[in-house]
Amino acid sequence: MKTFTFHISHGPWSADLQLTANHTLYELAETIIKAVGFDLDHCFGFYNNLERVTPSSEEYTLFADLGEEANAHDPGVENTLLDQVFEPRKPLLFLFDYGDAWRFLVTCTSEENHRAFKRPKILTTTGTPPVQYSYPNEEEEETPPSGAIYAIPHFTPAAMKRWLRMTEKSREAIITTIWCSTCNDSHGISKAKGKLHPSGDIMLEGLCPKCGGPVARVIETGETQGRADESP
Ligand SMILES: [Zn+2]
Repeated sequence: MKTFTFHISHGPWSADLQLTANHTLYELAETIIKAVGFDLDHCFGFYNNLERVTPSSEEYTLFADLGEEANAHDPGVENTLLDQVFEPRKPLLFLFDYGDAWRFLVTCTSEENHRAFKRPKILTTTGTPPVQYSYPNEEEEETPPSGAIYAIPHFTPAAMKRWLRMTEKSREAIITTIWCSTCNDSHGISKAKGKLHPSGDIMLEGLCPKCGGPVARVIETGETQGRADESP
């Protein structure tokens, strides 16, 4: 089946990936984020203007899939196949996290025929990858400080969608005020996991970074929606 090879670069770091023509832009984004060692915890988009995203005539963003303000010509990333977007030598800008604005140049380097495969492949990575979050005390990696934890990697896709609808400020506020009944104080949450309850609430569970006891929080839909509506 038709496959594409991509060269991804950010400064001196680069990676080569292989995906099939039937993989989606969302899967390409996931693979880039995995190759660079980031957490997939922010919104992102692909743009054909490599310098400035606004005047792009082609754009594919997660915002469109989330039903947020997106340009009319933006088909989103979840249902857009690589075959609909790429051809050899075509570059796109991959912008990850609209706050920190990580920019990756994505170039389709070749089109080949291979046996079909399910999981996108990371062929090679070169150079030192950028660091998404720098913690003040790197030695305590086991329990990252609470300030960094509103970046949560272990969400089910449905929960992550809803989580990303909230502003980063709201997410941080929720995380930093999680109550530990053992400490009788809030120290944030570590090893956090999130899933979506059938009611639409996010169930957040993890451990208190201080005492290691279980902490949990239900983020109610009403609260989520209200906060999302306030975001610009
Ligand atoms: Zn505690």
